[in-house]
Amino acid sequence: MAGGGNAIRGSRVGAGPMGEAERGDAAPRQTVTYFCAREHRSVVPFSTEATIPESWDCPKCGLPASLDSDNPPPAPKIEPYKTHLAYVKERRSDKEAEDILDEALTLLRTRRKSGDIIF
Ligand SMILES: [Zn+2]
Repeated sequence: MAGGGNAIRGSRVGAGPMGEAERGDAAPRQTVTYFCAREHRSVVPFSTEATIPESWDCPKCGLPASLDSDNPPPAPKIEPYKTHLAYVKERRSDKEAEDILDEALTLLRTRRKSGDIIF
């Protein structure tokens, strides 16, 4: 049992920039606040040398967010929770792939035993 698989779940977004700031050797940063149609406020750190994009994908819901709090970009027709569905689907297909591989190996062994080797 190796365990530890759950460690990836936590967000690392805040850890990097903060750690760097504490060491004091990071490039100067500025934070930019983006607003999405669902009224999320996302503070995104940029290097002061970076070009600030006018829009940003909201990390909370995936909708496009803009710098203007009064005028966030309209939500696209595709529902954002589709990404969650896709994630679930992806996980399931991983399991399926495992099953398929298992099945293929079993089949291969069976074929070898019976002398019906295809490869
Ligand atoms: Zn949002």
